[in-house]
Amino acid sequence: MDLRIAHLYPDLMNIYGDRGNVIALAQRAKWRGIEVEVRPYSVGEWADPEWPDVWFFGGGQDQGQDIVGADLAGKNGAALRKSVEGGGAIFSVCGGYQLLGHEYVPEVDPSIPGVGILDVTTRAGKRRFVGNLLVDSPDGQLVGFENHSGRTYLGPGAKALGTVIAGNGNNGEDKTEGAVQGKVIGCYLHGSCLPKNPWLADRLLAWALDRRHKDTKLDPLDDADEAAARVQASEVARTRT
Ligand code: GLN
Repeated sequence: MDLRIAHLYPDLMNIYGDRGNVIALAQRAKWRGIEVEVRPYSVGEWADPEWPDVWFFGGGQDQGQDIVGADLAGKNGAALRKSVEGGGAIFSVCGGYQLLGHEYVPEVDPSIPGVGILDVTTRAGKRRFVGNLLVDSPDGQLVGFENHSGRTYLGPGAKALGTVIAGNGNNGEDKTEGAVQGKVIGCYLHGSCLPKNPWLADRLLAWALDRRHKDTKLDPLDDADEAAARVQASEVARTRT
């Protein structure tokens, strides 16, 4: 069995250690004896929609988003949409999350059209949301770190990844954090997210493997260290004022 990971714009969309999400996905597969190949795709490097089982799309600076947004308006955006239609999974953080929606509207620059895979819309706000983020969900808690000015609002086609316990999440108003639509997840959890939240990593892994290896069962891993780190991270996040 093998896993194919496409890493989108690793040169432009990789702040706060977001590449750690790719490392975590690959390592959790390798620990289970699954072969892994990771392919980077940046501006002008067209992705074959048939190849990836899962895509990772990280966060970046605002100015990087206009370059990436313009690239996604071409074949890469169409490849992403085709891949999702064919069962591909996507995990996205912050700027990547925003660009999977309908549009990202910066504070002063023109609106950047999104790929339209997630039913979300984002508008930059005046105040940046920066700090530890603690989220509750029916499938478990999530810990991470947020740094964004964007306020993301969910449309009827998307459901929230979770509910904010500490921090701001999508917009600092409706207590939602992230969005899930089919096998596509967007969130504001930098940190990186997946090493700190192994249950979410394994969910993505199962979705990715299911594309070409139906009904794969993932053996449990020893996540004692991750669990201890999450307890500490959630305690620190709860002190956020
Ligand atoms: N446009 C994003 C914002 O809301 C960029 C930040 C990020 O990706 N970390 O600020």
